[in-house]
Amino acid sequence: MPVNALYRDDFYLSTTEAVVTAIHEDGGIELDQTCFYATSGGQPGDTGFFERADGSKIVLGQTKHGATKDIIVHVPLEGEALAAVGEKLVLHVDWPRRYRLMRMHTACHLLSVVCQYPITGAAVGEDESRVDFDMSETIDKDEVTAKMMALVKENHPVFVQWITDDELAANPGIVKSKNVRPPIGLGRVSLVCIGDNSAVDSQPCGGTHVSETQEVGAIYIAKIEKKGKENRRFRIRFGTPTDEA
Ligand SMILES: [Zn+2]
Repeated sequence: MPVNALYRDDFYLSTTEAVVTAIHEDGGIELDQTCFYATSGGQPGDTGFFERADGSKIVLGQTKHGATKDIIVHVPLEGEALAAVGEKLVLHVDWPRRYRLMRMHTACHLLSVVCQYPITGAAVGEDESRVDFDMSETIDKDEVTAKMMALVKENHPVFVQWITDDELAANPGIVKSKNVRPPIGLGRVSLVCIGDNSAVDSQPCGGTHVSETQEVGAIYIAKIEKKGKENRRFRIRFGTPTDEA
């Protein structure tokens, strides 16, 4: 049953009420609506807990898509109580974790602005993210850090614009990722835009992001690794290069 994925329209929604619509064999829970982000596009799914009517909790280990993108399965940790179909729950996303992922995810977009090469892979993490580029040049990581931090300090707005799958198909040039598929299949695609009138960047992405670049905070490129002749892996961390001691 298709879920109303509230996070697609509100990245800052950390709690909501929902009704259980299905229970999987492994205890996985489907809901009528959710603010839990499901793993996709290199961003890990949310963790957190569901609060039951009697006040007890079901702790979630991960959130993932089912057979299609409009199915979201919330997977409890082993040994957690089983929910029942029709049960009403109050959902609580582990917000400190999710907010770090939003800051990191936005930092990945800033890196793709500074480093304009095709992206071949990306993984957003709580402490470190990596982005792989199809490039053979050697560039200075401190220079990349300085340019990224300039974008952070300029405090550009970050917002979503929805276009149709057909509009995306007509404009293939806006897709920066070579191997990462844009979030199609919902009939509409979210373009993540940075800067007034998207002056800094816009690219299709179904992840969650902060609303102003300043929220990213201090980040730096910890490493640029050579992964093959034409592949460079950039590692982004929170903090400043002096934290690297
Ligand atoms: Zn994104």
